[in-house]
Amino acid sequence: MADNALDHWQALARAGTDPLLCALTRREAAFWVNPKRTFFESVRDALPLSAADIDEAAARLERFAPYFAKVFPETAAAGGIIESPLHRADSLAFAAAERWKVSAPASLWLKCDSHLPISGSIKARGGFHEVLLHAETLALEHGLITRQDDYVCFATPAFKTMFAHHSIVVGSTGNLGLSIGILSAQLGFKVTVHMSADARPWKKVLLREKGVQVVEHKSDYSVAVAEGREEALATPRCHFVDDEDSTALFLGYAVAARRLERQLETEGIRVDAEHPLIVHLPCGVGGGPGGVAFGLKHVFGDAVHCLFAEPTSSPCMLLGMATELHNAISVQDIGLDNLTCADGLAVGRPSAFVGTLMEPLLDALYTVSDDELYALVALTQKHEKLALEPSAVAGLPGFAHLARADRATLDTLGLAGHLGHATHLVWATGGSMVPEEEMTGYLEKGRALLKTVESSTA
Ligand SMILES: *Cc1c(COP(=O)(O)O)cnc(C)c1O
Repeated sequence: MADNALDHWQALARAGTDPLLCALTRREAAFWVNPKRTFFESVRDALPLSAADIDEAAARLERFAPYFAKVFPETAAAGGIIESPLHRADSLAFAAAERWKVSAPASLWLKCDSHLPISGSIKARGGFHEVLLHAETLALEHGLITRQDDYVCFATPAFKTMFAHHSIVVGSTGNLGLSIGILSAQLGFKVTVHMSADARPWKKVLLREKGVQVVEHKSDYSVAVAEGREEALATPRCHFVDDEDSTALFLGYAVAARRLERQLETEGIRVDAEHPLIVHLPCGVGGGPGGVAFGLKHVFGDAVHCLFAEPTSSPCMLLGMATELHNAISVQDIGLDNLTCADGLAVGRPSAFVGTLMEPLLDALYTVSDDELYALVALTQKHEKLALEPSAVAGLPGFAHLARADRATLDTLGLAGHLGHATHLVWATGGSMVPEEEMTGYLEKGRALLKTVESSTA
């Protein structure tokens, strides 16, 4: 059945008759509205995870806060809570709107996960939570702690000695490897990161400096994950961080929503049906954006609208959701190469767990070309003085797609008549750890593109 379905979609892609598939195979900027989006209350109880699961993850991160404050001094000022600031980006909003010839949104904010402490990307949310869950479980099993203890004790030799007998393995395009690697090594675990070919060399160097074993692969993300999974299965006392299927990662991301709610309150930003919150999330395998969106739905219900963004060479979630094949189809199946400068998004086959869960929750998905990503890195630097990596700016064109959407589309999304009072929030997922000369390279490419290309592709 799945094979037949795959054949069907591949034939359709070759025939060139389906407008969406045409845009994807030609690597044009595509915009897809999710026909299955529905009222949150009508699906909430049927979802595989609940608000109580998010609460539990949030409580775990709080238990570990004293540990972070102690071993990562840069987190001490925030009491060991790993969180990122909101940044109002009016100047960038005007410049981007002018570039795409649409009217500027009333309010556009950046959620600066680029500046999360320790690992400088959204992966600090999910990745840290999964490592902490594993460490806590082992410590409880070994009778080293109770949940009421001060977790600062995780920094003591007794814990490090115990963790040294255990290993953690992960497959990654780079940023998840950084998060898992840095924290696992700090706790005392043996840790191996399987890096896909896209992973930037500086990430491998940094991890090796921290005592992490890095295995380099010549192939893409899916292969790095599969190899990691195999190694973990063959190793006793080894935990595999499964980026495609992990609920621990997913829930770590979801905790962001509660914290965002408080930040919006502090800024005096209203969120309700007449003042929708529209959140634009870059998507790789799906866990990061999916987890954040899931958390946001629990906080804001139908007043929040989530859109995912992917590179034109790696639209795996769009392809999986639009065909309803999820992980039974890859971007390579329709002739794409999955090569993109947005290394955090270089994923050819999406998580089926996330894609299925997002079916009733997601508003839309769209694609962005590498050239546009470079240009947006430069535009963000110019107008907001923020250094973001290419993956992290993928959410910017979302407001332009909505500005151009017809009345029927806005009706479907429950946005008709409300777009003018919306708050757009672009999840800026990474960048602060990118080495200066690497960033200079991005900026040079981007500035050249800003000069030459009058873009029509939002
Ligand atoms: C990993 C990553 C994403 C996307 O997260 P997924 O869980 O892979 O969908 C977005 N931006 C950056 C910078 C990332 O590293």
